[in-house]
Formats: sequence, C-alpha cells, structure tokens
Amino acid sequence: MDLKNTIRDVPDFPKKSIIFKDITTLLKNPEALSYAAEELYNLAKNKKITKVAGIESRGFILGGLLAEKLKAGFVPIRKPGKLPAEVISESYSLEYGTDSIEIHKDAIIPGDIVLLHDDLLATGGTMEAAIKLVEKLGGKVAQISFLIELNFLNGREKLKNYEVHSLIQYDAE
Ligand code: AMP
Repeated sequence: MDLKNTIRDVPDFPKKSIIFKDITTLLKNPEALSYAAEELYNLAKNKKITKVAGIESRGFILGGLLAEKLKAGFVPIRKPGKLPAEVISESYSLEYGTDSIEIHKDAIIPGDIVLLHDDLLATGGTMEAAIKLVEKLGGKVAQISFLIELNFLNGREKLKNYEVHSLIQYDAE
C-alpha cells in the first residue's frame, strides 16, 4: 500500500512558506488507517511496551490505536494548561522563540517501557522534549515512531540514541 499517496500537501498552512502534511486524508481512508496502524504495531510488538505516549494532538490518533493493539496504556503529552492534574513541563526551541509540552506526573512510573508516537518528525525538537519528560519520570524509551519524516530537516540527528521509525519519508519539500 502506498501511504504517501494518501497524504495531502497544504501549502502556506499554518503560515506562509510551510507545506503542511495533512494526515486527515490518510485517517479517513479505512485501508490506509488499518495498514498504518498494523505497520506501526509490527515494529513495536516485541518490545514489551507498557505505555504509548502520544503527542498532542495528531499523535493521539495512531498512538491510541497502537496502545490498544499492544495492550499497553495510553499517555497524552499536551500543550501547556491542558492537563488537569499535577504536571511536569519541558521547553524546546522553535524557529522563533520557545514552546513547551507537559505530562501528568503520575502518567509514567519507573520501569515503564515507553513507545513515543507523533504524526510527523520535522526538526525533532518536540520529540526531544517528550523524551526528557518520559525519562524524568523514570520511563525507558524503547522506540519512537512517526507516520511521516521530513528527512531534509535532520530531526533524526537529535534522536540518534534511540530507535526511530517512520512509515513515510520526504527527501525534499
Ligand atoms: P518538530 O519539533 O520540528 O520535529 O515538529 C514536529 C511537530 O510539528 C509535530 O507535532 C508535527 O505535527 C508538527 N509539524 C511540523 N512541521 C509540520 C508539517 N510540515 N506538516 C505537518 N505538521 C508539522
């Protein structure tokens, strides 16, 4: 199945000169959704994953499906101010300025074997911050998976000490 064909490029969203990789066209296609979930599951099924942590918000969709398939728990990593109970935060750099993400303090316990999932790897800043959150709580990051990887932004370099997988790659914009 050619998953790349199911991704829609949206130029100049959310701002000028960004080509947004829209995964809603993959998600609404039953064969593509099932194929993507199965492929990601096969990569992780022998890792003894106890928690899947998905990054807001597009990482929640396949992350949730994966957690169920792996018989693991699901943990949301969210933008500031969204999680209701006690959190820890981690900041990361953007092209201009910084952003941060949060996780509930009790979401991961020492000994948890964690699969981190997001829809897309660009510069890797978001995932690097997510790794720090999981490790601060005592979790072991066993695998990191993405639907899409933008190779030309070298995000993988930031994640080089981890096992990283993506189902769809782009070598140029
Ligand atoms: P980064 O921290 O640079 O790796 O950015 C990854 C995060 O930004 C992911 O949560 C993506 O959903 C989002 N993102 C970055 N670039 C794009 C893009 N071209 N299309 C869709 N989402 C993107």
